[in-house]
Amino acid sequence: MQSSLIDSSGRQISYLRVSVTDRCDMRCVYCMAEDMQFLPRPDVLSFQELGRLCDIFIDRGVKRIRLTGGEPLVRRDIDQFISSLGERIGRGGEAGTLEELTLTTNGSLLATHAQALVDAGVCRINVSLDSLRPERFAAITRRGHFDRTIAGIHAAREAGLLVRINTVAMKGVNDDEFDDLIRWCGEIGADWCLIETMPMGETGEDRRDQYLPLHDVKRQLAKNWTLEPVFEKGAAGPARYMRIVETGQKVGFITPLSHNFCDACNRVRLACDGKLYTCLSSRGAVDLRAVLRAGGSDDDIRALIDEALARKPLRHDFLIPQDGGNVQGPSRLMSVTGG
Ligand code: SAM
Ligand code: SF4
Repeated sequence: MQSSLIDSSGRQISYLRVSVTDRCDMRCVYCMAEDMQFLPRPDVLSFQELGRLCDIFIDRGVKRIRLTGGEPLVRRDIDQFISSLGERIGRGGEAGTLEELTLTTNGSLLATHAQALVDAGVCRINVSLDSLRPERFAAITRRGHFDRTIAGIHAAREAGLLVRINTVAMKGVNDDEFDDLIRWCGEIGADWCLIETMPMGETGEDRRDQYLPLHDVKRQLAKNWTLEPVFEKGAAGPARYMRIVETGQKVGFITPLSHNFCDACNRVRLACDGKLYTCLSSRGAVDLRAVLRAGGSDDDIRALIDEALARKPLRHDFLIPQDGGNVQGPSRLMSVTGG
């Protein structure tokens, strides 16, 4: 049994978020510039390299892996990779096995991949959907096809996957649709999660105007819906959930700029280029690809992971100016680190 992953603040790391590609078939306004330059392909870890790193993390106590990107489903042979990771899911939570393998997707290719996900042992996924209005959806995603994403979501539900819809809350863009999204999620039996915009990299858009504090949204929603707090045992993720009594589904609020989830943070992020980030806001990272490609042993990789954990910050350091100016974040994009 390998030693478990403990950071300098004594937090046990049991959740790994893996970006399998920075590429995407959409260009969401808050995420990427229209003329996004992707990494050269050789810079992205091969599935063999990703699999080796995931194995090392699982052996050291990671229980949940979420695959993300970019758009994870645009990567060729992704089904085989997910299937191989699925083999590490344990039935009874045995040491050295995964409890959960999940995925965050924009849904465009879900219709073709939903069954493969189920076959690999994936039980639930997050699908991003910022609008139920086709033209607005097209404007936000720049090149997404609304019908394809909706078809993907239905295919996922029909295949038996639990779905959580993720919506980035944008003032003046989609804040008139939240009641419709709650109703629609109720109809398809999906939970819903609202995300505050985060200052990750340059997208060519000024995100200051779109920032919508979720505590205001929650107050607004409470006028039309009965919201009851949900207490989730062991929940260490950034979302805080309420039950919507009228639909029976949950609504989550992700407020990354508050610190309310840092104390219990159990996660690290492996970017598609092999950098390991111990916090979404970290500017520094350790380079696991360099060790992998220099022929490093598993012990070398484990030592570098420990080095990163020793530097995991207690709290994120997004800079929030008091004068209402732009929030400062790292220069890399969410699609590289994996949102
Ligand atoms: N392509 C997939 C998708 O869209 O679901 C997975 C990757 S995407 C980077 C993961 C999540 O990050 C999505 O829900 C997306 O809306 C969110 N996201 C991306 N950039 C963001 C930003 N600057 N602020 C807040 N959320 C962001
Ligand atoms: Fe692509 Fe997801 Fe970023 Fe949109 S949010 S551009 S779908 S990676």
